Amino acid sequence: MTTALSLQMLEAAVEQCYDAILVTGAELDAPGPRIVYANPAFCRMSGYAHEELLGRSPRLLQGPETDTATIERLRQCLREGRRFEGTTVNYRKDGSRYCVEWHISPVRDAQGRISHFLSVQREITARLQAEQQRELLASALNATADSVLITDRAGTIVFANRAFEAQTGYPVAEVLGKTPRLLQSGQHGADFYQQLWRNLERGESFRSTFTNRRRDGSLFHLEQTITPARDADGRISHFVSVSKDLTERVEKEQALQVLAFTDKLTGLYNRSFGEQQLTHEWNHARRYRRPLSAIMADLDHFKAVNDTYGHACGDRILALLGDTLRRCVRKSDTVIRWGGEEFLILAPESDAETAAQLAERIRCAVAALRDPQVQRLTISLGVAQLSGSEETAQLIERADRALYAAKAAGRNRVEIADGVPA
Ligand code: GH3
Ligand code: MG
Ligand code: MG
Repeated sequence: MTTALSLQMLEAAVEQCYDAILVTGAELDAPGPRIVYANPAFCRMSGYAHEELLGRSPRLLQGPETDTATIERLRQCLREGRRFEGTTVNYRKDGSRYCVEWHISPVRDAQGRISHFLSVQREITARLQAEQQRELLASALNATADSVLITDRAGTIVFANRAFEAQTGYPVAEVLGKTPRLLQSGQHGADFYQQLWRNLERGESFRSTFTNRRRDGSLFHLEQTITPARDADGRISHFVSVSKDLTERVEKEQALQVLAFTDKLTGLYNRSFGEQQLTHEWNHARRYRRPLSAIMADLDHFKAVNDTYGHACGDRILALLGDTLRRCVRKSDTVIRWGGEEFLILAPESDAETAAQLAERIRCAVAALRDPQVQRLTISLGVAQLSGSEETAQLIERADRALYAAKAAGRNRVEIADGVPA
């Protein structure tokens, strides 16, 4: 079938082929096949001239980093007349190394005997380097303790590192192709995300403290920086987010804040927080002309509890009372341990009558408490509704006076302060 024309054409094709082509003889006994042809691409790649290659063994391309196992596999394939495919490190004439991907096919004559081997090679040094670089970067990103998330321009997650997995509980495979919205906790308003996008669209990075949601629904706090990454043409192609987990620090701070605001024995708010809250509720009631009531409560004959059963028993009763008061009030009410066994309840949106009902509920709940040691426990309460013109101190004073009126009237009672709210 080979006409003179097609032979010419084949020769031109092989000569001009982009891939490096080497043809050897088929002698398998040592020293092995000899090169009978190398195309210009092969000469360019190896640095050898055609004449320098002719008659030589392809072994002249091997060197210290050539993988002997691959070469052994290659020999095996040649002996068995099978096609070989592999990658290896070769050496140019000047001694420099390069990586090739190559395959060798046996060429058979009309009788089916192997007459030559045809080897086609392509240099993959740059590709291997790029792959190694990518692997290095990925393992570096996986080694860092900060969580790294990369999205494309549209916000689709294309990379997440191991720290991200540990931080969020999401396996990487589960988030690839999704958007970081799945981490949103609902703790940031629309303006927060608007600001974020404004920065990113402008090509600026955005740094903030985020509260996100883990896969198991729990919240975590992080300091996150999101930076636009640009492609070779300078267009934003990706967004890279790096975040440090602040959960431990934020939780410690929150715990400290709680400690600073609460009374250890009863778990109620302490007086210093109570005073702030009183001012806050007073401001709110004034500004919006809403009712606000204060209830001052004091255990009856508590000194006798201490004297009879000891201080530890008194403490236990106070803790029990803390639980009882918390149970009696609404979420919007504030229960404060104002003094030793004296409690202030702030009831916003409550007039004197409603607050008196609450006070009465508390009185009954305390009277109903059963303790293995203390047989009878009662409390007296004074109720005052904020009047139009008074300051916080006057409100507390009137509640206090009502409390003492309750004490004077025999204890285990609720008294409402005089003074009609303006
Ligand atoms: P009254 O009915 O008039 O209120 O009589 P009372 O005995 O309760 O009198 P008062 O309110 O003056 O006495 C308060 C007592 O509360 C004095 C103190 O021993 C006790 N107390 C205050 N703080 C604590 C505390 O933290 N633990 C214990 N165990 N007792 C406390
Ligand atoms: Mg008392
Ligand atoms: Mg007292």
